[in-house]
Amino acid sequence: MQDFSFYNPTRIEFGAGKIANLDQLVPAKARVLVLFGGESARRTGTLDEVTAALGEREVQLFGGIEPNPSFETLMKAVTVVRENNIEFLLAVGGGSVIDGTKFVAAAAQYAGDAWDILLQGGQNITSALPFGSVLTLPATGSEMNKGSVITRKSLHAKLPFMSELVYPQFSILDPVKTYTLPTRQIANGVVDAFMHVIEQYLTYPANAPVQDRFAEGLLQTLIEIGPKALANPEDYQTRASLMWTATLALNGLIGAGVPQDWATHMLGHELTALHGLDHAQTLAIILPEMLRQRKATKLDKLVQYAERVWDIREGSDDEKAEAAIEHTRAFFESVGVKTRLSDYDLGAEHIDAIINSLQAHGMVALGEHGDVTPEHCRQILLASL
Ligand code: NAP
Ligand code: FE
Repeated sequence: MQDFSFYNPTRIEFGAGKIANLDQLVPAKARVLVLFGGESARRTGTLDEVTAALGEREVQLFGGIEPNPSFETLMKAVTVVRENNIEFLLAVGGGSVIDGTKFVAAAAQYAGDAWDILLQGGQNITSALPFGSVLTLPATGSEMNKGSVITRKSLHAKLPFMSELVYPQFSILDPVKTYTLPTRQIANGVVDAFMHVIEQYLTYPANAPVQDRFAEGLLQTLIEIGPKALANPEDYQTRASLMWTATLALNGLIGAGVPQDWATHMLGHELTALHGLDHAQTLAIILPEMLRQRKATKLDKLVQYAERVWDIREGSDDEKAEAAIEHTRAFFESVGVKTRLSDYDLGAEHIDAIINSLQAHGMVALGEHGDVTPEHCRQILLASL
């Protein structure tokens, strides 16, 4: 096991009706800004529940945070925060609203050009407003982690930042809130959570058996409950399992003491920034060919993944690895997330621009060994057509 420092201060309030607890969770006298996305929070009644639970507090609303939250929109929220001396932020939505709120929390207290927060990956943040979240979409783990991904539309750039100052103080996870999600978003959530585990598991052996078993348990749970969550939207227990699994996939626990990859995520961000694909759609396209391209350096773990997660016992190591890659692709397809660029009408003529953008963002040494180059990424995209 590698050395690590593990810190996670986010309180989780899990269960049906937990939004009522906001009254105890949000400081009694705080001026609050509630941030949300398009129309879903209002349409589903969640926004009304939230404002009712906040009682007599001075509350303002900021709606319109897009999927893949934009710097342009979030800077408007920063202005609202500054002009109204807002003291506490409350995100109501999925990963986009929570990521966006993390950025607003940091940018509102940042003296320089706030885009620098993304350019420096969050290292320059010295303070941030406190905030909590009401999660409505299980997928990203943003409700219990220190990461955020922000898009600057004018630059076609989608960049991550991380800081311990942007852990949510609390997150409310009510599985009932997921009942209204469209099938596409549940499928995306299953794939994104699966990918978060893969990025922290399919690397090289690190003598970390408990992290491996945690990761394999989360993967097997997603394989088991993904189809059920799609088939039965109001099956509380299945949605509860999905919600908690997605949180555990990226709250730091399984990543402590092990190498981490993230190359698929970084390349995926370029696809979203340039072509607008959903985050999970990009991951489902890239992962199978990323694993094939990196098969030599990942072989031990690929064989372990094949045997323990997919119960593949026959064949040589290479055959087991190949079978595991194809099982993974088939799983993504089975929940309705396509795995080829051509499924989105993207051809070879688009690849140069994607690779140029990756290079421009400094993503030139990706993966757990830092040896995934733009040229490798070009080969991966060509193989993903
Ligand atoms: P999302 O972009 O937050 O939401 C997708 C869509 O779902 C929105 O159109 C939203 O509609 C709708 N929606 C949300 N909750 C709903 C509900 N309960 N009922 C009906 N519709 C609902 O999706 P996401 O997958 O959670 O977040 C994706 C973003 O997170 C990407 O930018 C990705 O890069 C990032 N990400 C972050 C991390 C991290 O660790 N921080 C990790 C992975 C990915 P409305 O807009 O109308 O509300
Ligand atoms: Fe992700």
